[in-house]
Amino acid sequence: MTDRILRSVHSGDRFHWVGDGFYVTQLLPGGRELQEAADPFLLMDYHPVKDYPPTDRPRGVGAHPHRGFETVTLAFEGAVQHHDSTGGGGVIYPGDAQWMTAARGILHKEYHEPEWARQGGRFHMMQLWVNLPSADKMGDPGYQALTAESMGKVKLPGGGTVTLYAGELDGETGPARTHTPIELWDLQLAADETAELTVPDGHTLMLFVLDGHLDTVGGRIGREQLGLFDRSGDRLRITAPETGARAVLLGGRPIGEPVVFYGPFAMTSEAEIVQAIEDFNAGTFGHLD
Ligand code: MN
Repeated sequence: MTDRILRSVHSGDRFHWVGDGFYVTQLLPGGRELQEAADPFLLMDYHPVKDYPPTDRPRGVGAHPHRGFETVTLAFEGAVQHHDSTGGGGVIYPGDAQWMTAARGILHKEYHEPEWARQGGRFHMMQLWVNLPSADKMGDPGYQALTAESMGKVKLPGGGTVTLYAGELDGETGPARTHTPIELWDLQLAADETAELTVPDGHTLMLFVLDGHLDTVGGRIGREQLGLFDRSGDRLRITAPETGARAVLLGGRPIGEPVVFYGPFAMTSEAEIVQAIEDFNAGTFGHLD
């Protein structure tokens, strides 16, 4: 086995609002180097724990388009409702995830679930944008509701747990159907626990720490920091402090194609972006009130 080595550690940018419901810091995309190193992940928005007062008008973000990738929302606390132009929709609660494939085009809106909003409370989320290979960018849109009960679970010998949204560990698999191999895991380590996880050699690997911190080969990743690892190695060694630690692992096989990013569209060329804007303006993304 060869250990993964921590290459760099990144903090988010200034917090900003997405619509009036999502108070986030962006960890990806960072600089150009980070974009290439994060492949197939295009974007990561992190919404820390925050209290929302009760309201009869749920906060959120209104109808908007996406093309060329997938949006993946992880709910840690609170409840998010979603509707899209394919008729897809649903609510995700703590432990659930929404895996939406925009592909050739989708309109959707995302907001706090109305009953939850009436009560108010603690909200804690993450949204990832996962790239699609060029051959799948103009495929059919889709929506997967991944429930907490459906997640793969691996008990670690030191007392911790790995929850699998996507990918495989020790014979367990996550429920997400992905277009390229992806690892998306929630790691919960006990006090002072050291875990050794088998990871695919050659895949991108990042850890975002939600609670505590993690020591690994090459350094430490602090709370609300994203650690990026070298792509070679098949073993991830991490150690939690006496408070324990929680982190999200983002991994996957790099797609290795050019990325041209323009607002809610991610394609492989300028010409495809121009086409996306023309198609959106022509109404081919469908309709959503
Ligand atoms: Mn969106």
